[in-house]
Amino acid sequence: MRRPVIAGNWKMYKTQADTRAFFERFLPLVASSTHCDIVVAPPFTALAAAVGAARGSTVTVAAQDGFWEKEGAFTGQVSMGMIVETGCKGVIIGHSERRQFFGETNETVNKKLKAALAAGLRPIVCVGETLAEREMNLTHAVLEKQFEGAFVSLTGDEFSRILLAYEPVWAIGTGRTATAEMAADSHRYLRELAQKRFTSERASALRILYGGSVKPDNIRGLMAQVEIDGALVGGASLDAQSFASIVNF
Ligand code: PEP
Repeated sequence: MRRPVIAGNWKMYKTQADTRAFFERFLPLVASSTHCDIVVAPPFTALAAAVGAARGSTVTVAAQDGFWEKEGAFTGQVSMGMIVETGCKGVIIGHSERRQFFGETNETVNKKLKAALAAGLRPIVCVGETLAEREMNLTHAVLEKQFEGAFVSLTGDEFSRILLAYEPVWAIGTGRTATAEMAADSHRYLRELAQKRFTSERASALRILYGGSVKPDNIRGLMAQVEIDGALVGGASLDAQSFASIVNF
């Protein structure tokens, strides 16, 4: 039985003050939610505020990205060690918005993933096809390329520390959700890839989250699929009440 994970990706929303206000409302709503891991990923500037506000709760905080070098002349970048220092436990890697707008590739995902693991962070690695790729029947091929690229020279032990997020790009922030069956099909395929690349045990222990317009009114249908182990939630994680409803699916 895989323990569910509900993670919120705030993208470029919320100041430090907004973050503290969110946790004040959110924590009482999930105080007895022991059935899943709860993760919140604020922007870099609000990470320490989130860690402080979540202290004493079961909610952990993740960054939305991180760089592979430890330090150096890399203006604008933040290292995995710097993220650890804020008290974060995880980091999102390879989100489609980073692939689409900031030149993230399977190679950079792999470098970031190794740096995150070396720093002791739990990575949430995102994969997913665009609408054009789905319409050309390329979903499995794209997932395979992203999976293989992300996990180049990763050991089985390292792989067991990651969370995978399947996020069809056409469903992110668009209000279009993959049907629970579509999501489950991709999750099944990703698990097959994990089995081929690692072992059956590692594959069956892997937690795969679905992301793409998850809302309080569709989370139950998604979580009813045995292949779906949780959700990576964008827009609907910004509101304490709505994110708590998703956590308490
Ligand atoms: C995301 O940002 O990872 C995401 C899935 O966004 P949304 O829930 O808004 O589609």
